[in-house]
Amino acid sequence: MAHQNAGLYIHVPFCTAKCCYCDFYSVSDLTLCDPWFDALCREIALYRGQFSTFDTVYIGGGTPTVLKPERLDAMLQIVSRHFTIQSDAEITIEANPQDITVEMAHQLVAAGYTRLSLGIQSFDDTVLAFLTRRHTARDGVKAVYTAREAGFKTISIDLVYAVPGQTRAQWHKTLVQAIALAPEHLSCYQLTVKDKTPLQQRVVSGAVVMPDAEMEELFFMDTVSLLASSGYHHYEVSNFARTAELVSRHNQKYWLHAPYLGLGPAAHSFQDAMRWWNVTSVKAYIERLQNGDSAVAGGEKLTHEQLRAERLMLGFRTRCGIEHSFFDRSQKSHAAIRHLAAAGLVRVRNGRVLPTTRGMLVADSMPHLFL
Ligand code: SF4
Repeated sequence: MAHQNAGLYIHVPFCTAKCCYCDFYSVSDLTLCDPWFDALCREIALYRGQFSTFDTVYIGGGTPTVLKPERLDAMLQIVSRHFTIQSDAEITIEANPQDITVEMAHQLVAAGYTRLSLGIQSFDDTVLAFLTRRHTARDGVKAVYTAREAGFKTISIDLVYAVPGQTRAQWHKTLVQAIALAPEHLSCYQLTVKDKTPLQQRVVSGAVVMPDAEMEELFFMDTVSLLASSGYHHYEVSNFARTAELVSRHNQKYWLHAPYLGLGPAAHSFQDAMRWWNVTSVKAYIERLQNGDSAVAGGEKLTHEQLRAERLMLGFRTRCGIEHSFFDRSQKSHAAIRHLAAAGLVRVRNGRVLPTTRGMLVADSMPHLFL
């Protein structure tokens, strides 16, 4: 893996309030921003010998844009002081639409961010209210225009479907609005019920009923068909890009087992079959780094079998699938491929086993056939 370029992820663990469905680690106590940033600078320095060059940088969260633009600028400068960021690097920042003011957008472009990932989620105010988002559909449209005018060449929009009460017609309208804004990239996620979220409580209590599997499949197939007919390349279960060059290079590192360094509370890293993760607490993170310790809370060396299982699952989630030579020559593998092909879930083409659109939908359940 040493020859592969590494990616850098920085987790900004702050949100002004929590959305009802979200289980990403974040806190709303913004007085911790200063000591967290100080700790982050210390953590960056700790990895100087272990990583040297990044060709993707991804600032995620949380909500990175709760930080002042000067701080988001300083973050990239400090990273550049300790590591080489390749001149053609993809440098993404996630943002909530209401934070993208004219000033913020210009400062992000000037700081060197090349890609803006906007958490718009929907262009329907009823859906946004259900999701307890703090912005309107209009804010979403405005953010795209503002980012474009400021000079962002690559804009990605995050959207959510299969929201309780949402009709296919409503979702269609959101997609049509998104397409009209011509983003280079779209991520369309199915709403899932995560543990210990307010949404889960409402589902368990019966106050909210999630769409059934049949409905979820219809939402997914509608999404793929409309975006494909609008010129978007469906390259991963939830991800669509205008051209092959506009796929998320950073996310591909996760899918292809390329090395990546994750900094900040709850961030995960991967290098040479080792995976390790940081403490899931801003306060503990600050304390450890202030004391000169590392923030790592645990780690594991993945076995050959674990790497293989992950590679299968991640491979079946992506349009380019898995090289045929990856599969062993056992009867079991041959039978599994034949079975999936007969069910219309994969195709074998040019030495690769490729998932069909329906196959991508059930990608997570396919690896067990090979293990
Ligand atoms: S969905 Fe985004 S904005 Fe909402 S709580 Fe999660 S990280 Fe924060």
